[in-house]
Amino acid sequence: MAQRGNSIIRDLEISEVIAVLNKAYADEWLAYYQYFIEAKVIKGIMKDAAIAELTQHATDELRHANMVADRILQLGGTPLLNPNEWFTHTNCGYEEPEDFDVVSILQDSIKGEQCAISVYSQLADMTRNKDIVTYDIVSQILADEVEHEEDLQALHDDIVEFIADIKQSIQ
Ligand code: FE
Ligand code: FE
Ligand code: MG
Repeated sequence: MAQRGNSIIRDLEISEVIAVLNKAYADEWLAYYQYFIEAKVIKGIMKDAAIAELTQHATDELRHANMVADRILQLGGTPLLNPNEWFTHTNCGYEEPEDFDVVSILQDSIKGEQCAISVYSQLADMTRNKDIVTYDIVSQILADEVEHEEDLQALHDDIVEFIADIKQSIQ
């Protein structure tokens, strides 16, 4: 644990920061797996475009897990050691894919990103002017999650519109 690095944290319990970061850490692993498996099972129109997006997001979520784990260690904490704990600590849970259709898969993922945006926005509020390093990390992740939501929503809307156009042209 870096003593001087931690001494600059003001008006915030380090143990509390570690606890909330571990919850975010659980979310990132579950988000990673959700994207990983969605990219495998997805079916339907324009699925290749969706697979490219889902796979890129899986990579981002794993990178976020790395960033959060490294910060937990810097603070003197231990990242969750057992995957069982992902389910007891998660904020956003896990949306098991039930309908593998591309539109449904994208809707599940959008829900996950919206939750992630709320979580990181709260973490930014909590650490702003108090723990500058964690604030910087959660702000970077927040920007990625905002981009993720936008990418998925744009793709979802394109596909829905494309389906509507096809239906109209065959009437
Ligand atoms: Fe993430
Ligand atoms: Fe994301
Ligand atoms: Mg993207």
